[in-house]
Amino acid sequence: MFTSKTRLRIAVQKKGRLSEKSQDIIRSCGIEFGNGSRVLKNEAYNFPIEFLYLRDDDIPGYVYDGIADIGIVGRNEAAEKQFDVDYIRDLGFSKCRLSIAVPNSFPYNSLEDLQGHEIATSYPNILRACLDERGIKAGIHEISGSVEIAPAIGLTDAICDLVSTGSTLISNGLKEVDVIFRSTAVMIAQKDLGKKDPEKQKILDRLLVRMDAVMKARDYKYIVFNLPTDHIDQVSKIVPGMKSPTVTPLYEKGWSSVQTVVKEDDFWDVFEALKKIGAQGMLVTAIEKMTI
Ligand code: AMP
Repeated sequence: MFTSKTRLRIAVQKKGRLSEKSQDIIRSCGIEFGNGSRVLKNEAYNFPIEFLYLRDDDIPGYVYDGIADIGIVGRNEAAEKQFDVDYIRDLGFSKCRLSIAVPNSFPYNSLEDLQGHEIATSYPNILRACLDERGIKAGIHEISGSVEIAPAIGLTDAICDLVSTGSTLISNGLKEVDVIFRSTAVMIAQKDLGKKDPEKQKILDRLLVRMDAVMKARDYKYIVFNLPTDHIDQVSKIVPGMKSPTVTPLYEKGWSSVQTVVKEDDFWDVFEALKKIGAQGMLVTAIEKMTI
């Protein structure tokens, strides 16, 4: 339980692609709070944190101004707004890329082919930085939405827009030709929060310990399998686990049970290697939290 009146203010997207996952990650840290869809702010019941529900493109500015102490936002928005904030965690979700797309008939080989053309985008700062770096002179039309229709209505020759699957581009007769920025959701904080408010920094540190445990757990699977005891020596080379695998004898002589963790990305390679040394009856489960 907490006694201090200080609360860490976190800005999350009120409605949109980031909204649910931003709230989910905080809830998975054991922090309970009401639904943010009908309110502008609320407080957690069991942790000193207060939520502000905002438009995601306003979040970097509110964090910079100190209205919010921290925020969850797409790296694309944080980069576009150019406010000097601290990036404290990459949260991995809401993966997307900021890409150049042109009509299917446009003969495109490289970014230099956009020289002298007009490009529509909601991300003029990121686009300008990219064009300047390559010495390309092109016109930038800033529009706030439905960027993909700009070539069809004769506004521009190309667009620079966020893409996750690419299906919107295809249905508008466009081809994705260059990726200029890759984004995921990030947690940002007001610059030097710890110096300005050590109390709030302490709350943030407690939150980060929980978040790191949850995020680490998402990257791993817990596996249990049976193995002929003669082959146990080879196990720790294939699946070292956190320190070393747990090995317990089975009732059936000559067999052992092995418990360990494996990175999700390595799972199928590990599975094949373990099968080769005689592993059987593998059980695989998700891990809720994981600490070092
Ligand atoms: P929205 O809720 O549509 O305003 O999108 C919020 C954020 O979700 C964007 O700023 C991106 O960081 C992220 N995002 C992920 N995929 C996409 C996508 N295909 N189009 C737009 N935004 C995306």
